[in-house]
Amino acid sequence: MSHVQGDTALGRILRVNLVVQNHTGIFERRAYAMRNRRAQPRAQVFVIVCNSAVGYFGHTMKTIRTGIGFDAHRLRKGRSLVLGGVEFKHTHGLEGHSDADVLCHAIMDALLGAVADGDIGVHFKNTDPRWKGVSSIALMKTVRRRLKAKGARIINVDSTLMAEQPRIMPRAQEMRSNIATALGISIDSISIKATTMERMGAVGRQEGMAAMAVATVKI
Ligand SMILES: [Zn+2]
Repeated sequence: MSHVQGDTALGRILRVNLVVQNHTGIFERRAYAMRNRRAQPRAQVFVIVCNSAVGYFGHTMKTIRTGIGFDAHRLRKGRSLVLGGVEFKHTHGLEGHSDADVLCHAIMDALLGAVADGDIGVHFKNTDPRWKGVSSIALMKTVRRRLKAKGARIINVDSTLMAEQPRIMPRAQEMRSNIATALGISIDSISIKATTMERMGAVGRQEGMAAMAVATVKI
């Protein structure tokens, strides 16, 4: 490669690159290189390889996108309390058309938001009898399929549940496992946190629970 060293060779590479960059296809670039006697063959091979690499990586380059989700449900006596697909023993459960799993709902909205695909209210209408009492973990599998159809790969999910009672964190591992399985990703990519509202506001008075989530995808 001794003859492709120095400013002259570099200048030649850049010139050839500029001329050929409007051509499409490696064969056209190769034909041009063959015609151009002034350019060194190795320099032209270098240009062809570089252009092909730029074209290849430009084609397959992925974008990172994030989505945000928030949800809240009222608590009602006698309803079963399901959070992250885990049933908790509690005097009250969340009210809703489905199982009212507020944590799963926030996570699904974050995932749909990351690919700008509406929200769960659009895809699972609360007037549709198909979704009455349905497990939100099952709905999450549908969301996973929607993302896959768009070519999105889930990188991670972070979430926070806001509830005064019961204690959430002892069962966080089960919840993470349910969600990771539904989404087909590693449990290490699912984060669940919980906080009380220090007895402030509707959540603090135990009128309901709320959850927020952020999801990152590669598309
Ligand atoms: Zn909800």
